[in-house]
Amino acid sequence: MTPLLIATSNAGKLREIRDILRDVPFALRTLADLLPIAEPDETGATFEANALLKARYYAGATGLLTVADDSGLEVDALDGAPGVMSARFPGATYEEKFATMFAMLDAKGVETSAARFVCALALVRGDEVVFEARGVVEGEITRRPRGRHGFGYDPIFYHPPFDLTLAEVPLERKREVSHRGKAFEQLRTFLGGSSRLLA
Ligand code: IMP
Repeated sequence: MTPLLIATSNAGKLREIRDILRDVPFALRTLADLLPIAEPDETGATFEANALLKARYYAGATGLLTVADDSGLEVDALDGAPGVMSARFPGATYEEKFATMFAMLDAKGVETSAARFVCALALVRGDEVVFEARGVVEGEITRRPRGRHGFGYDPIFYHPPFDLTLAEVPLERKREVSHRGKAFEQLRTFLGGSSRLLA
């Protein structure tokens, strides 16, 4: 089977991506299977630009068919912040990042805000961008973090159709509605029909 590199060093993302791509006709590889490669600077202004930058970088460094994603949280009351800066938002822990966000909402005079998670992915082989996709999930920031599943901002991302945060649902339920679930489901379908083309 042709190897497919999932180019992320984020354990939470990797768990979700491996789960979604579990039955694709490719041999899934992760960065942990390879010799250490320095991470690229995420200099793009959009999720799409950063996904492409990462996929190109790791495809170039490894020679493997490579998928990378870039994702983050957009909060309407904060004009879309933290967006592409989600991982680098002020705070050493997520509890601290939540406190930063609540302070920024206080400064705007609001208790909560509509928000969305966005995920862009790019599949690259050599110089060729083979496939791109985007997924979005809408929700609301809650001041009461709850749930032990997931990672990152999941405990403060309330999803009204579930009446739960994304940290209160297991992997399989998050996958059905999440930004990453939607983007990678498109990739799964694409890979299912392209295994000979990409061999
Ligand atoms: P990236 O590695 O630059 O794509 O950073 C993505 C960051 O966005 C993560 O480190 C989290 O802070 C946040 N994020 C993205 N997806 C999720 C998710 O599914 N749940 C919670 N936080 C997420």
